[in-house]
Amino acid sequence: MALSEFSLIDRYFKKPLASGAIGVGDDGAVIPVDLGSKLVVCKDLLVQDRHFFADVNPVHLGHKSLAVNLSDLAAMGAKPVGCLLGLALPAIDPSWLERFAAGLHALSERWACPLIGGDTTSSDHGIVVSVTALGTIAGDQTGLLRSAARVEDDIWVSGQLGAADVALRILRGEIDDAPGRLVDLRLALERPEPPVALGQRLLGVAHAAIDISDGLAQDLGHILKASAVGAVLDIDCLPVHPALEGLESGLIEQAILSGGDVYELCFTARAQQREVIAAIGQQLGVALTRVGQICAQPGLFGRYPDGREHKLDVPGFDHFARRSS
Ligand code: ADP
Ligand code: MG
Repeated sequence: MALSEFSLIDRYFKKPLASGAIGVGDDGAVIPVDLGSKLVVCKDLLVQDRHFFADVNPVHLGHKSLAVNLSDLAAMGAKPVGCLLGLALPAIDPSWLERFAAGLHALSERWACPLIGGDTTSSDHGIVVSVTALGTIAGDQTGLLRSAARVEDDIWVSGQLGAADVALRILRGEIDDAPGRLVDLRLALERPEPPVALGQRLLGVAHAAIDISDGLAQDLGHILKASAVGAVLDIDCLPVHPALEGLESGLIEQAILSGGDVYELCFTARAQQREVIAAIGQQLGVALTRVGQICAQPGLFGRYPDGREHKLDVPGFDHFARRSS
């Protein structure tokens, strides 16, 4: 029998929740909250042909639609609590839905972030996915705000840079694929692993944080603007994804500074926290690299191995800039 909007929701998105919580199936979700904590809420929108290719593996799309939100929660230092899924579909394709839901539920179970509701509709313009994620921080915390960077803070980056950007360029035919390169890079683009544990561990240790979605230079730029400071990046310290080896150096620099879809954290912290941060990286098995320093002079500067230092004027990703070009 053909699936309706409601049997679709029941079949693919309804899951039992812990006792005391009401999820999918009523007019609203009801979840117990600890009155001593603060709620952190974020939302991301993924549009077919803009954020993903129509033929993307639906398991990966389900994963990524939650991952990009968990990455935002991580950048605030929040612990995930639950998520809501807005879904617009051109048609009901049970096999696609099965795989999409599997990808989303697997990640949601891994981080104890159950799907507690959403909305579903048909679409005349391709698939649109929007997840809202809820998380909490302790009531006495303010979260890892963009405005909290201080002069002389170290700047840190988690994981490696450039992979998703190069994968996208290979898929678009802008760069030739060396044998096997895309295989290593494609997962970074389509199945990012959100730094959820790291974000929570940095609360109370780091000052400012942001997740890198539109390129390191642009996203760090948001911290600089919000904190009214500048920064010097040590270009040769930036952690380059190993699969970029062999690419032209200008292309690598562009990918690590401006490439988006990274979903790693860029954060700042006092120099006194270096050992604590190194220990956190070791305990979590996450590469944490010190890549520069916050300075009083506004602007973003690059320091090169030969001692040159100059202002970085690298564009990050801007949806509307790209449309009009
Ligand atoms: P309403 O009309 O009150 O907005 P709906 O009939 O659209 O509610 O949805 C019925 C139930 O299914 C609600 O609990 C809603 O949160 C849930 N729901 C709808 N779409 C989704 C979805 N894509 N993922 C998870 N839950 C969903
Ligand atoms: Mg509805």
